Amino acid sequence: MDLSPFSQINPPQRLLMGPGPINAYPRVLRAMSSQLLGQYDPAMTGYMNEVMALYRQVFCTKNQWTMLVNGTSRAGIEAILVSAIKPGDKVLVPVFGRFGHLLCEIAHRCRAEVHTIEVPWGEVFSADQIEDAIRRIKPRLLLTVQGDTSTTMLQPLHELGDICRRYGVLFYTDATASLGGNPLEVDAWGLDAVSAGMQKCLGGPSGTSPVTLSPEMEAVIRRRKRVEQGIRTVDHAEGDDEMIYSNYFDLGMVMDYWGPERLNHHTEATSALFGARESAQIILQEGLEAGIARHRLHGDAMLKGIQAMGLQVFGDIRHKMNNVLGVMIPDQINGDQVRARMLNDFGIEIGTSFGPLHGKVWRIGTMGYNARKQSVLQTLTALEAVLNSLRFSTPRGAAIQTVLDHYLADDNHA
Ligand SMILES: *Cc1c(COP(=O)(O)O)cnc(C)c1O
Repeated sequence: MDLSPFSQINPPQRLLMGPGPINAYPRVLRAMSSQLLGQYDPAMTGYMNEVMALYRQVFCTKNQWTMLVNGTSRAGIEAILVSAIKPGDKVLVPVFGRFGHLLCEIAHRCRAEVHTIEVPWGEVFSADQIEDAIRRIKPRLLLTVQGDTSTTMLQPLHELGDICRRYGVLFYTDATASLGGNPLEVDAWGLDAVSAGMQKCLGGPSGTSPVTLSPEMEAVIRRRKRVEQGIRTVDHAEGDDEMIYSNYFDLGMVMDYWGPERLNHHTEATSALFGARESAQIILQEGLEAGIARHRLHGDAMLKGIQAMGLQVFGDIRHKMNNVLGVMIPDQINGDQVRARMLNDFGIEIGTSFGPLHGKVWRIGTMGYNARKQSVLQTLTALEAVLNSLRFSTPRGAAIQTVLDHYLADDNHA
């Protein structure tokens, strides 16, 4: 390796099989190496309009305001929460993993009155449990996570939109980890706001967050107060609750930048936009349903392989995301030692876990570009070899044979 201070960057070859980031589609990386454009060049604004149209299809929505927030997935989450929540608003967060806690944390900073309901990690909520809480708490917003990678669970959302309509509640979900690998129908399910990220099933690098806003959510955001352009000293009283306390994340201003007004806000992250455009093209070219079916096929293959190796899986697998699996670390095995051996000997990364699952569960992803037969077989082969070398015995070869049979059965169906 060239270690001189002026050497070109040359990262090691890795197969990223954790809960994200994952290897980007090569097409996305090529698109991102394109030359830059000025932000009001008609070619650039044309690409921005294309991105809006592409992500409307990815999100299954007619929402005009479907665009990118520059920043990682958390930027999309924060932009929506900061723009929608007024101090004192009641919000309800059903927490079933780490990312539910993140929504609470951000809502607290927006000075919302935060209410939570919780289920143990590895489970999801029934629609009744959420409706009961809405009836009791009467929140202005319901903040949900669709797929929480911390637990690998997928919260069913399709019945929640109707409930929210009935009680006059705005309905948001963080679909960062689930979009592209599991069904999400923004309009049919009555969602008012959704945010996502690139580094999971969309197969790009983190750095942009696709978001979509319903007309109701747009109206809520447009009503918030803004500082007039050009005013230097702002005379706003303490507790001016109508003001959005962020310029960068004020989605009203972001809409004016992406919309026909083209009012200057930030400089759109051009290379990241090229990448996000390419990801959407790949997904729509494959077809949303076919892409979800591919994530299910390879997610199931990983599940069957892990079980055939004699390992236990984490959580209620009826509600598992297609694209990530929690694997119980066997008692006598040091999980970090296995991960290090996978990385150093095979160049394969699998994930650790947070909070109550730390040291107990590995998380293995099969998403985006890595929802492929080769990635699944390579990962299982390496994991079995490492476990065997640490004296954890497995029914030798059973995992790979089970997975090959799984793929053969699929080919026979096709
Ligand atoms: C991975 C993940 C994120 C990631 O946020 P970043 O800001 O892109 O790191 C957010 N939400 C969920 C549910 C995730 O699984």
